[in-house]
Amino acid sequence: MQLLKDTILREGTVKDGNIIKVDSFLNHQLDVKLFNEIGKEIQSRFSDCKINKILTIEASGIGIATIVAQHFDFCPVVFAKKSKSKNLDGEILYSKVESFTKGTVFDIQVAKKFINESDNILIIDDFLANGQALLGLIDIIEQTSANLVGCCIIIEKGFQSGGEIIRKKGIRLESLAIIDSVENSKIILR
Ligand code: 5GP
Repeated sequence: MQLLKDTILREGTVKDGNIIKVDSFLNHQLDVKLFNEIGKEIQSRFSDCKINKILTIEASGIGIATIVAQHFDFCPVVFAKKSKSKNLDGEILYSKVESFTKGTVFDIQVAKKFINESDNILIIDDFLANGQALLGLIDIIEQTSANLVGCCIIIEKGFQSGGEIIRKKGIRLESLAIIDSVENSKIILR
């Protein structure tokens, strides 16, 4: 997706540990117009699937998922929570995730009542690095009878193992931009 690639090259920076900083449009300030174009792009890639729910993870996935959902007939967005909340009640689905940016392990949680048997679910997240966040979200869906249509990532770090792990599981994975490498703090896109 050229508009996204141009934005990454213009505004993205590289931090220690090959962390890509895109807080001017994706992780802090949100570029709603770009998100809307991303929504159109994801809709066209998954137009063959009857997606009726989007699953993401807090915090950065939420903003993009809600704009994308408008391109899937305003379907509901469910986001996995990363910490215990008094707002979570009834049966809870859990999965363990190791945080790439913080290096800690934590439970992600989704109330079971929001994942139904008839759901055709698209998972969305901002970044794919080692695949832990996606594997946790996939595990949550696999604990139910819902159908996982596939995963869509805004920025895949192609030099880390997540993409290969998810694709090897036979899960449809679409990434709108793939970073092949980082050379002398310069982002090299595929
Ligand atoms: P994974 O679970 O695939 O190892 O990492 C994905 C999660 O870690 C994403 O939800 C994202 O929030 C965060 N993440 C991983 N790599 C980066 C990065 O380079 N930049 C930013 N901003 N977040 C990242």
